[in-house]
Amino acid sequence: MDYDQVRGVDPAVADALAGERERQENTLAMIASENHVSEAVMQAQSSELTNKYAEGYPGERYYAGCERADEVEELAVERAKELWGADHVNVQPHAGTQANMAVYLAMLDPGDKILSLELEHGGHLSHGHPANFTGQTYEVEQYEVDPETGYIDYEGLYDRAERFDPDIVVSGYSAYPREVDFERVQAAAEAADAYHLADIAHITGLVAAGVHTSPVGVADFVTGSTHKTIRAGRGGIIMCDEEYADDIDASVFPGAQGGPLMHNVAGKAVGFEEALSPGFEEYARRVVDNAEALGSRLQSHGFSLVSGGTDTHLVLIDLRESHPDTSGTVAEEALEEVGIVLNKNTVPGETRSPFNPSGIRAGTPALTTRGFDEAACERVADVIYRVVDNPDDEAIKAEAASEVEALCAEFPLYDREGRITDVE
Ligand SMILES: *Cc1c(COP(=O)(O)O)cnc(C)c1O
Repeated sequence: MDYDQVRGVDPAVADALAGERERQENTLAMIASENHVSEAVMQAQSSELTNKYAEGYPGERYYAGCERADEVEELAVERAKELWGADHVNVQPHAGTQANMAVYLAMLDPGDKILSLELEHGGHLSHGHPANFTGQTYEVEQYEVDPETGYIDYEGLYDRAERFDPDIVVSGYSAYPREVDFERVQAAAEAADAYHLADIAHITGLVAAGVHTSPVGVADFVTGSTHKTIRAGRGGIIMCDEEYADDIDASVFPGAQGGPLMHNVAGKAVGFEEALSPGFEEYARRVVDNAEALGSRLQSHGFSLVSGGTDTHLVLIDLRESHPDTSGTVAEEALEEVGIVLNKNTVPGETRSPFNPSGIRAGTPALTTRGFDEAACERVADVIYRVVDNPDDEAIKAEAASEVEALCAEFPLYDREGRITDVE
């Protein structure tokens, strides 16, 4: 894509778009929530459906001319049902946050109680943070990870649920490296007679591939983002039992949104079709194997990982033991200079602040999409070590930058036809 149409109208934006493409090709995207979609998904997302109002649902739209929109949405829904084994699916949420919003809006009244994981321990803004509408609309209490093990403190969660008597318990996290035991969260929710919302935003792809246990059929509601491990373009999704279908659909539209972003629904349909192909399971498995390889190599360099490792697509590095004088911010900035793009992150028992925390989070979904294997991830770990160990050493950073450049050349994001290399 050379953005020639954009360039004819708007060279400034064309430059920015071409620059972003180049940035993605020439750096390592290790932000755990990011991925690279295929050119097929991007083409669907830039289709004429961006022009179409399709308020309502297939077969019952408010406006005329929705036959093609209906076909696309029905395909997205059918494929999602097959991928996750859900009874009912809504593919219209603009993103994961709006999916969560629709569930709260459908099931809670203002002032009702949410029990969710502490943000500093891996929770998400839309789970009740004071800066988010959830924290301002509902009464929120939080559960924690065990400070010793880094695993969810399920017993603590159970006790807190009994004491706090929540209306909904939220599981699913942004910076949690271990497999979530949705059955145990469900037991706590049931004991408190609360709903259970499993927000699998990060792990949608791992769950679809069977590489992570599924909350579908366990939790009352399952929400997710479609642009993370499932690689289907920016958007959100809600899954639930048939008994909640009408409430959830009404809550998405007209409750929380207007016209659906049908071009993004088309992207979801295409990305889900790709995820149904046998190669996707292999991809998801490699994402986890790569995260393990990255983590073990980091540990061999002396880094401490929250929970001692990973079962998923990400590792959370606690710098306090190995590099007590280096904050997550310093590490993030030094790594970005050499072309490794990841994020600073709070760690359980944080002793700095959310804006200058003690950890960094690193994920493998995007690297795996461009073909990285375990050996390549070990090389990345070596670069991370050298840079974080010497964040001010220009010679070491120059050497690290050439290693990143070599890795990008070995694992190109696009082949000669401009396709993402690992997608058929
Ligand atoms: C990413 C994420 C979301 C949704 O984010 P959006 O940017 O709105 O798609 C929700 N919950 C968790 C746990 C997340 O990590």
